[in-house]
Amino acid sequence: MSHTGIGSVAEEIEQFSFEVGPIRPPSEGGSASLLIRATRNCPWNRCTFCYGSSYGGKKFQLRSVDDVKKDIDAVNSIAGLINEASKATGNTGVINQEVASFLLQGNPGLNNHTGFVHVFNWLYSGGKTAFIQDADSLIMPTKDLVEILKYLKQAFPSLERITSYARSHTVARKSPGDLSALHQAGLTRLHMGLETGDDEILARIEKGVTAAQHVAAGLKAREAGFEISEYVMPDIGGRSRSSQHAKNTAMVLNKINPDFIRLRPFIPRANTPVYDEYLRGELKLSSPHERLLELKNFVEKLEVDSRLVFDHFLNPSFRSDGRIVPLFKQDYEGYKLPEEKDKILQLISRGLEIDNEKFLNANDLIGMPSL
Ligand code: SF4
Repeated sequence: MSHTGIGSVAEEIEQFSFEVGPIRPPSEGGSASLLIRATRNCPWNRCTFCYGSSYGGKKFQLRSVDDVKKDIDAVNSIAGLINEASKATGNTGVINQEVASFLLQGNPGLNNHTGFVHVFNWLYSGGKTAFIQDADSLIMPTKDLVEILKYLKQAFPSLERITSYARSHTVARKSPGDLSALHQAGLTRLHMGLETGDDEILARIEKGVTAAQHVAAGLKAREAGFEISEYVMPDIGGRSRSSQHAKNTAMVLNKINPDFIRLRPFIPRANTPVYDEYLRGELKLSSPHERLLELKNFVEKLEVDSRLVFDHFLNPSFRSDGRIVPLFKQDYEGYKLPEEKDKILQLISRGLEIDNEKFLNANDLIGMPSL
């Protein structure tokens, strides 16, 4: 393909588009992962803290392999044109601000072209990671997902990490052979919503999985070679179930020993069943200090080699000299256990010395539609 000027490359990009879903983990945003939507929404769609919020309660749909491949082709075309612009500006394939300016000069409308912005940012960040959307990609027939993964890897050999959300229930039902096939096809990391290891709370929030199934799924995924991120929700049991939540979640994680434990403090969001429960007074949330005590209880019981990660703004932060200061670092790698356990416990002690009122109170965000 050859083009005569800025305008033609920039205008050609606009002809290509692909579908992107609404959600991805923060760590995939930090690395500007390429988002490939293999399914739409969530096949379970019942968790009381999520339903009606994350995917707007929309119906789950499988996408056809052909449609997903067409999206990958569109990404490839946009990437090819961006590379062409890089060469035209003497940048020999390097993607930088000069390339962006060149393209936007040729077609200012690209600023609002989601596909261009997304692919440009992905390439600008190195083009090394991709995330398969939506909520539970492993629900797809294994051979279909394998085909998509292989096609994606073939299109973009620069990819070093491909990740996806996966429900424990779905992973637990996959055969070891299917899980290995997915890993060998290039899927490297699974983001799994543990939320809690306590069976009573799991039933209350309608997670559709038991603690034993969480453990089975985590172990199976690790056995197949996946890196695992397990997401935990501090305060999901409310004040009255704080102690059982901390104890049983640590117990489940000690059995799985995942690569990452990522903390997502619980907030009742608008349009979710748990928000109604909260409004009816059936669920009392913990204060900032009580949340720290739950965290202390949890961390003390952890016996894992995982990284404990606070990569979400809802983790504890406090006001100091007119600034908002996170108590824990909020990067994507967090703290290594067991080596940094004492450091985390010291930070918790420090937090407990700060007035409750100085913390950004999670309660202020209750009822927000999406966080
Ligand atoms: S499985 Fe995940 S996406 Fe689906 S309802 Fe539960 S929390 Fe939401």
